[in-house]
Formats: sequence, C-alpha cells, structure tokens
Amino acid sequence: MSGETETIVIDGSQGEGGGQVLRTSLALAAVTGAPLRIVNIRSKRRQPGLMRQHLAAVRAAAEVSGATVRGDELRSLELEFIPGPITHGERAFRVGTAGSATLVFQTVVWPLLATPGRSLITFEGGTHNPMAPPFEFLQRVFLPHMRRLGLDISATLEQAGFFPAGGGRFVVELEGGYPPAPVELDERGEILSCEALAFVANLPSHIANRELVVVRRELNWAAEDCHAIELEGRGPGNALCLLVKAEGGAEVATGFGEKGLLAELVAERACAQLRKWLDADVPVGEHLADQLLIPMGLAAAEGNESVFLSTTPTLHAKTNAQIIARFLPVEFEFEPIDARRGWVRARPR
Ligand code: AMP
Repeated sequence: MSGETETIVIDGSQGEGGGQVLRTSLALAAVTGAPLRIVNIRSKRRQPGLMRQHLAAVRAAAEVSGATVRGDELRSLELEFIPGPITHGERAFRVGTAGSATLVFQTVVWPLLATPGRSLITFEGGTHNPMAPPFEFLQRVFLPHMRRLGLDISATLEQAGFFPAGGGRFVVELEGGYPPAPVELDERGEILSCEALAFVANLPSHIANRELVVVRRELNWAAEDCHAIELEGRGPGNALCLLVKAEGGAEVATGFGEKGLLAELVAERACAQLRKWLDADVPVGEHLADQLLIPMGLAAAEGNESVFLSTTPTLHAKTNAQIIARFLPVEFEFEPIDARRGWVRARPR
C-alpha cells in the first residue's frame, strides 16, 4: 500500500462516535503508513476517552507497526500515532481487565493481514462481552468470511472470559500478504444448520437450560441442536449464542446474561435479534456489515468493487465507511431496498 505522509486528523465524535472510529483509524494508519491524530476520542460515550481496552488496542497497534505514540493514557481524548514498518511474530496482547480482547484483535488484524509474514498472537481479556463480537462470532461468522476472501487466518479459544472477571484467552494464527478478494454476498440461500449454545461459567446450569427452553419455543429449533455448556472459564458469566449457517452467509446472535436480568429475557432478546436477520433474508447481519467494510475498502483500493446485501446498515457501519474513505482512495454507497434491507457497495474513488 502506498504510504501517505500528511497527518490524517480524525474527529472521534463523528457519526457513531465510539471505539470503532478509533480502532479503524489505528488499523488503517498502520496499513497505509499514514500518521494519525485523533481528537474527541469516544466523545459520544458515557465515559469518553481511552478506556483500558482502547488503550490495549492502541498499544497493540503501536507494537505491530513500530509506531511512535503520544496521548496513550487512560481517559485521554487525543492521540497521535505515527506508524512505522509492520512486523510479524509471536506476541501476546493483554487488556488487563475484562475489556474485550476481540476488539483488540479487530485493531491489529488488518495491518498483520496486509503485510507478508506469519503471526501467532495470544489475546487476553474478555472473550464474551456485551457490545463486542463474542468469540463464537469471530469463529463462525467473521473468520469464515475472511477465508472466503482468500485470507489465511484461524483462531482457537483457550479460555472464556466474561465481564467483570475477564481472564479469557484466544490464539490467532495468520499468514499475511494476500490482499482480500472483493466481497460479493448478494443472497442468503437455504439455511443449512442451526445451533444454540448456552454458556454458563460459575453459574447454575438451570440458567442455560431455561434459555434453551425459550429458544426451542421461539425459533422451533430441535432439542439436539440446543446445547447447555458449562465452561471452565472465569466467571460468573452467561452468554447465549444462536448460530445459523446458510448457503450464502452465517449469523451469530448473542444474548448476555446480567445480574438481575431473567434468563428468559436474555434468550428472548437473542431470538428477536436473530429473527431480524432471518426475516430480512439477507446474507449479512448488522455486525458483520460494519466489520466487512475494511476488507472491502482494501479490495477497492486495489481496483476491485465489492457488494453485499444486509439488514438496514447501522450508524456504526456508515461511520466506519466514512473513516475508511479518509485513509483509502475508495467510496462506499448505501442503497436501501426497504425498511429491513439494503445494498452496500465499495469502489475505487
Ligand atoms: P464500538 O461500539 O464502536 O466499540 O464497536 C463495537 C464493535 O463490536 C463493532 O464492530 C460491532 O459490529 C461489534 N459487535 C458489537 N456487538 C456484537 C455482537 N453481538 N456480535 C458481533 N459483533 C458485535
């Protein structure tokens, strides 16, 4: 990727104004070599600025790209990040709290995939956090799509970690240097399999069983596809993952247990989320939509157009598209079809 020397200034309060603005900016600054200054970091969040998990993402991105960083302190609202050459190897990145380790993964995966070399990286922190991809989403949705794009990457969960105890761990192995093929996901096709995984760690198993009763009633899934799993992970914790594999796509909808929240309600919410994807009859769900934009942007920067059909794109996705277009010579188009669905396209600018 050709280097840019002019500093790219990103206003972290734009659009959705959350952590994804920061992560995408760090990832693409490292990929392109462009110096980055980001101001008003996460200013639309209740606790603005860099939290522990964002700081872990900044430090991880700095380590893989040999960056010089200023402003990398807790609660900092401003950051300067001047990347150098990307290096591969064996590393461990620790959030240090129960903050999401999958979001740290989201930050470093692009510079590592964009450059030739092999990496083996251990991520430690939360693996099943609200407002972040749970490990099952990475494994069953995100990574299979990346492999379809010709990227060489896999992940293994070694230990689950829930908020607030943390202590989770997964290992990612990848070989970078292969540009992503364009995304073309225009049809969901037939449903091939459905599976409900109700995880509990250091909590009574009836929580998982009650969630599965709701799943069977709401989604009409067979008992043999519904599994209660007692994890060895650090807890207490509970997550219900509803996994669907279709000919042209996959989705994992997740409900997270909380103290004081009925297990039945956790399950009903997860079912409602999944139904949104099922009813829309699209290959790409809400979360995959914002996560596919970076590989689409990288493919478009190489001259290749991409397209997918998804549930109505969120502000998250639209904000991510705006940030990507600041680093790469690409443009995104969001074309609604009806109240539930829309096309998303990326092309060279
Ligand atoms: P932010 O809220 O800006 O920190 O970004 C959160 C990121 O986590 C986005 O990439 C979301 O798509 C992703 N995410 C949040 N919740 C889920 C979920 N339940 N499953 C998969 N991805 C998620």
